[in-house]
Amino acid sequence: MTDCIFCKIAAKNIPAKIIHEDDLAIAFEDINPQAPAHTLIVPRKHIPTALDIEHTDQALIGHLFRIGAKIARDKGIAGKGFRLVMNTNADAGQTVFHIHLHLLGGRAMHWPPG
Ligand code: AMP
Ligand code: ZN
Repeated sequence: MTDCIFCKIAAKNIPAKIIHEDDLAIAFEDINPQAPAHTLIVPRKHIPTALDIEHTDQALIGHLFRIGAKIARDKGIAGKGFRLVMNTNADAGQTVFHIHLHLLGGRAMHWPPG
């Protein structure tokens, strides 16, 4: 999608600190980190929200979680704990309408989230 910031990052038209990429997905550091570790895991396919995930996307979504777990291990935060979060629509604070998992870690987090 031409107007989407995460499609542009995936196409390397906008710079980002990319830490993983493969045929299906890309992961890069959040520009406004909310924790010592804050990485976004993003499918190359433009899917606006979690509500738009189709049956044929199920393996892709599992792939995103596996990338998140690998990055958590690589960053040394897996054992202590981390979150993989997908915000959906306004009440959850979604601002970029191309689905992404937030990997958050490196500090203790509260529950319920704010
Ligand atoms: P959400 O609010 O769940 O849609 O998350 C969007 C996230 O994308 C926010 O945490 C932003 O800080 C992050 N973000 C927006 N633009 C960029 C960018 N150009 N590079 C890296 N992260 C970005
Ligand atoms: Zn997009």
